[in-house]
Amino acid sequence: MALTEIDLHKELKRYFGFSQFKGLQEEVITSIVKGNDTFVVMPTGGGKSLCYQLPALISDGTAIVVSPLIALMKNQVDAIRSISSEHGVAHVLNSSLNKTEVAQVKSDIRNGICKLLYVAPESLTKEDYVDFLKDQTISFLAVDEAHCISEWGHDFRPEYRNLRHILKRIGDDIPVIGLTATATPKVQEDILKNLGITGAKTFKASFNRPNLYYEVRPKTKNIEADITRFVKQNDGKSGIIYCLSRKKVEELAQTLQVNGIKAVPYHAGLDAKTRSKHQDMFLMEDIDVVVATIAFGMGIDKPDVRFVIHHDIPKSIESYYQETGRAGRDGGEGHCLAFYSYKDIEKLEKFMSGKPVAEQEIGHALLQEVVAYAETSVSRRKFILHYFGEEFDSETGEGASMDDNVRNPKKQHEAKEDLEL
Ligand code: ADP
Ligand code: MG
Repeated sequence: MALTEIDLHKELKRYFGFSQFKGLQEEVITSIVKGNDTFVVMPTGGGKSLCYQLPALISDGTAIVVSPLIALMKNQVDAIRSISSEHGVAHVLNSSLNKTEVAQVKSDIRNGICKLLYVAPESLTKEDYVDFLKDQTISFLAVDEAHCISEWGHDFRPEYRNLRHILKRIGDDIPVIGLTATATPKVQEDILKNLGITGAKTFKASFNRPNLYYEVRPKTKNIEADITRFVKQNDGKSGIIYCLSRKKVEELAQTLQVNGIKAVPYHAGLDAKTRSKHQDMFLMEDIDVVVATIAFGMGIDKPDVRFVIHHDIPKSIESYYQETGRAGRDGGEGHCLAFYSYKDIEKLEKFMSGKPVAEQEIGHALLQEVVAYAETSVSRRKFILHYFGEEFDSETGEGASMDDNVRNPKKQHEAKEDLEL
């Protein structure tokens, strides 16, 4: 179908029931429908899936979508199936399918019914699949969570490195779409290079979260009392407290409970039933606070989380941004409070010491940015956005006053500036 004949708004309404595109979606979709290699950088929740789902639904042939997690793929396929009456419109191709199921998927692709084929990168390496796909009409290849291709990202998957090679075998001129919520220039460069789309049309949304208040406090012996006090001052509000270790999660959850706060622990050491119970209690507001390791949060979409506390500083600015980003999704108040001690940095360095040297170097560089963030005396928002390659005016930018350094400039900093004059 020629682009001029398509009314994208109508298709949006028809398939998804939305009357408006979010952010840059329309521009992105137009670029994809035109057959351009396209690169999309949008924060989590920005609506990246629709950027490839809608073009896939209105294009001839099948779009191949690479995604790192089977659970994520299953969710997406269920969602797509619920919006389209066509049986077989979306499939997951993975090792759990039996022969009959694989035959059904192949037949739906051959017949042009299957518009979206979700695959894990390791499944794409199977000769049989590659041989089959190279004879089919493929509309484009979308690589979701494309930062998995980069060692500088927070979730490196070596299998992502083979994608370009495999794609070449499926078809030389298939457009490639990369999508990620990782905004660091280094990771972006890696993605474009590794996918072989350095000429891609790039769409990058702002990562500024103007309603979030950023604060860093020194971490002392009294940290548990400090956190308890903060939570009490925010009585009845929903919050997440991140700790590095499972042990600390349990201890802190207990401390809070003893102090009359409705808190539960969450970490990968708890059995699945307990984890999902605690998650539900948080979502249903039976409890106010989840004390958790980073195992908590992926795919949790509670709009009114009012604070995110870091008992321990995370290992990168990106993790920090992702974790604090779970506050204030509804645009309302979101207080992001991190406790910082250089000792914790040393602890994180020590954790890495068993790893390959290249990994250690990257880990060290990422940690140094965290140190710089924690110790900075200028706008924290400006720091974060600069880290993501984005300009921010710390006087007039949106949310400029929403951080501790801007509200209460440090004496020491003033003194230093005086010296420099
Ligand atoms: P991302 O992958 O960027 O984190 P998702 O694709 O998961 O984001 O989308 C986040 C949410 O936004 C989903 O609930 C989705 O239904 C919703 N959404 C996407 N596009 C629109 C739109 N145009 N209008 C309203 N809601 C949208
Ligand atoms: Mg996504």
